[in-house]
This record gives sequence, structure tokens and C-alpha cells, in this order.
Amino acid sequence: MTRIPHWIDGERLTGERSLPVSNPATGETIRDVADGDAATVARAIAAAEAAFPAWRDTPPARRAQVMYRFKRLLETHADRLVHLVSEEHGKTLEDARGELRRGIENVEYACGVPELLKGEYSHNVGPGIDAWSNFRPLGVVAGITPFNFPAMVPLWMYPLAIACGNAFILKPSEKAPSAALAVAELLEEAGLPRGVMNVVQGGRETVEALLDAPSIKAVSFVGSTPIAEALYARGAAAGKRVQALGGAKNHAVVLPDADIDNAAGTLMGAAYGSAGERCMAISVAVCVGDDTADRLVEALKPRIDALRIGPGTAPGLDMGPLVTAEHRDRVLGHIEDGLAEGAELVADGRSLRVPGHEDGFFVGGCLFDRVTPAMRLYREEIFGPVLCVVRVASLDEAIALTNAHEYGNGTCLFTRDGEAARRFADAIEVGMVGINVPLPVPVAHHSFGGWKRSLFGDLHAYGPDAVRFYTRRKAISQRWPSRYEAGQAEFAFPS
Ligand code: NAD
Repeated sequence: MTRIPHWIDGERLTGERSLPVSNPATGETIRDVADGDAATVARAIAAAEAAFPAWRDTPPARRAQVMYRFKRLLETHADRLVHLVSEEHGKTLEDARGELRRGIENVEYACGVPELLKGEYSHNVGPGIDAWSNFRPLGVVAGITPFNFPAMVPLWMYPLAIACGNAFILKPSEKAPSAALAVAELLEEAGLPRGVMNVVQGGRETVEALLDAPSIKAVSFVGSTPIAEALYARGAAAGKRVQALGGAKNHAVVLPDADIDNAAGTLMGAAYGSAGERCMAISVAVCVGDDTADRLVEALKPRIDALRIGPGTAPGLDMGPLVTAEHRDRVLGHIEDGLAEGAELVADGRSLRVPGHEDGFFVGGCLFDRVTPAMRLYREEIFGPVLCVVRVASLDEAIALTNAHEYGNGTCLFTRDGEAARRFADAIEVGMVGINVPLPVPVAHHSFGGWKRSLFGDLHAYGPDAVRFYTRRKAISQRWPSRYEAGQAEFAFPS
């Protein structure tokens, strides 16, 4: 069986320990992945520390040239990378291609690093004194990423971190590690010096070794909320800068005046695309008025029944399997709970069988109506192809419901009413808001992040916030006294 290695200082290392990697469409273990221990992490840190000073001192315009070449290589190798994403994650090839494209956008943003780092300058802040701030890299920084975007989420982090002059250690998800490694390795061909980028494979122990290492200055994490929260606390206690993006329960609010056909069509992709395994997936449709709910459910039901589901690597599909057997069982558990709690299961995907893939981790599209806020089905992130309809009486009630939820990653309003849209966008306590856009994932020159328990830390991922996250400000005041001027002692604070 092939073992997916670590990539440290330009070398592929497999180590003694490993973890299994499965193809979720067949249920088979297809390869295994190296499982890094503390010694492996120490080796990666040593390589990154050694590479950092020369990379820090490389002019940003030259660092950007590596990113230009990296972007072209990602495009050249797209078919192979997309196949690896689909094979280990289960998402369709088309969806994997979209993920890679959105990842490449972040490399394009990193190509602009000379502009992004040009700093701030003030002339004559005092007599003959100029002041400026510049933005210096931190040193060795790490990224820990989830299974659900094996190519894109790592690309949210290291292209910009590296372009800003840092050395980087990536710990990809052990459930879908191949694509993350294959993407990162292209940096070698792009001309990045050895040791600036390293990949350490593994699970919890590997992450903890990274978190506890004093020489790692910052950690970017994307994954589930309990782990994000614990990791934020542990990293911050160790004096690191941490941004930890967590889970979600994204609400789409549907007003009576919405174009129901359009809402139902776009909600299908937002709820069931990638089998619901997206942190921006819509998992709750909040319908204002019973008539709106009835019309939406009626429009969704036939569309759910018509979902084309199978192995992600086959062409022409809407949805693939869930990532592991354990995750499928967890999703099925949520569905059972929903039934026990009294929600109405309008579309039931539990009995789905995909011919030739009987051992795959498939669950068909599910739709629950008459879900209430007290239900576990409503409160917890399911991360599967399950959409819940909650009925409310007014837009204000919909806003209050959304704001009361512990998560605040993404949300959307379907309406034709501009005033309602403006009120919603103002009042909603969620980090990313769509108006008739169900997946409002910001483009790479904005930044991505939720509110409340969807993000621990101050700065959002990628874009302008990430330039600040991966650099520290140095403020310089400079004066060149005239040789004809006598120096004056000043005992009061300069003003
Ligand atoms: P996860 O939290 O299980 O794992 C994420 C990473 O943490 C992996 O690299 C994993 O190896 C590591 N990890 C797992 N257990 C750990 C532990 N006990 N201690 C330290 N590290 C540990 O998440 P997942 O199942 O891979 O991904 C799905 C979750 O990620 C969902 O909750 C989803 O909402 C979230 N997510 C959030 C965003 C966002 O931007 N907010 C984006 C994608 C995914």
C-alpha cells in the first residue's frame, strides 16, 4: 500500500507510524498516511527555522515570482489534483475543480505581495521627523486544516504566509491528505527554497506538538468548533497568535416575496452540494409564514428526489458520499434524533443504495420540516445532506432566531425587497451575509470568517486580514538633525 509521506526540507519521509485513508465511495482503505510524532515536528521546525532568514530577506517582488509560477503549475496539474480531492473526500469532480479554482484565487492575491507590504508613511510628523510602519514576517508559522476542502483551505493560508516572508508548516487532514501534499509539492518546481514550506502529516498528537513548540509564532486552524476553541486557548497560552475557524449552522431566511423557484434551485446546491460537508452549507431554511414554507418544501421535494448521487469521480453527478463510515453514522444519528424529537421528514435519503458501491458511505438528500429551535437537529452542526425548515412569523423573528444561534458563519436572505435586505444585512450577527446569494464565500481580496463560535481570534482568514495575521508591524520614527543645529534635551513627552 502506498504511504503518503511528510515533506520536510524537500525530502519525502514516511516514518514508522501511519493512519488509514479510505475511498468513501467504495469504503475501501486505499492508502495510508504517515503519522508525525514530536520528533517529526521538531525536524520540520528546524528546517523552517533554518530557511526563514534568507527567505525573509528575499525581496517581496522575488517571492511573488514563485507565486506566479505556482499558480501556473496549479492550473497545469489541475486534473490530477482534482481527482485526488474527489477520490479521498468523495465530492464530485466539478465541485473539486471549483474548490481548486477558489484556492488558486488566493495564490493570485499573494502575487500582489509587493503592493500588500508597501507599508504606511507619514512625512514630517514632527520638525524634520518622518514616520513609517512596515510589516515584517513572524518567522515559522503553521496551518492545520480540515478534510472538507483538502486543496482550498491550505491555499487560504500558506501562499500569503510565504509571500509575506514566513516559513510554513502545514498539517493537513489525515482523512484527505493526498491533494494537500500534491498541491504543496508544486512549490518545489515553482522554485521555492527548501525548508520554506513543509508538510507534516498526522492527527491530534502532531497538532499538539506544533501548538506547544515555542518557535512556532502563529497558527491558523480551520475545523470543528470544539477543537478550534481548545486549540485557540492552548496556542494563546503558549504566546502564539492564533486564528481558529470553527463550525457552522447557516440559516437562509426566505421572505414571502422571494422568487421561490430561484430560492429552491440555489438552495439545492447550498444544502446538498458536497453532501452538505461545507462550513458555508445552508442547513436551515427559515421561512417567514406558513405559505412560504409550504411553497418552498413543495419546490424542494422533487428536486431532492432527483439528486444524482454516486462516486464523486464519475461524471455528471450532483453529490457524492460522506467522508467516513463514522461520519455517516453520526449524520444518520442526527436524522433519528430529529424523528424522535417530532420533526417531519419530508425527504428521506437514509435508504439510498448506489449500485456497485454498496459499501460506500452514502446518505441521500434529507429534508425536515417543522423543526423547532429546541431540537438537537436544529442546534448542532450535522455536516451532511440534511436541510431543516423552521417556520417563523416575521423577518424580525427570523433575525432574532439566527442571532440566538451559537454559530455565525454564513447566512442568506431571499427576497425582492431592498429595504428588508438592508435591514437584514445590518441586524444579522453573522460574519458572511448573502442577499439572494446562498453561499456568500468572499473572494480572495476580501477575508473569510464567521462570528460568535464560528471563529476564535481577531483576524479572518485570507485576504487583507491574513496579511496582518502573518506579519507584525514595526513603526519607525526617523530624524536626521541638521549639522548646524545644537541638540536640545527635551524632558516632556513629545507632542
Ligand atoms: P476536525 O476539527 O475534526 O479536524 C480539523 C483538523 O484538526 C484536522 O487536521 C485534524 O487532524 C485536527 N484534529 C482533530 N482532532 C484534533 C484534536 N483533538 N486535537 C488537535 N487537532 C485535532 O474537522 P474536520 O472534521 O476535518 O472538518 C469539518 C469541520 O470543519 C466542520 O465543523 C466544519 O464546519 C469545519 N470547517 C470550518 C470552516 C470555516 O471556515 N469556518 C471551513 C471548513 C470546515
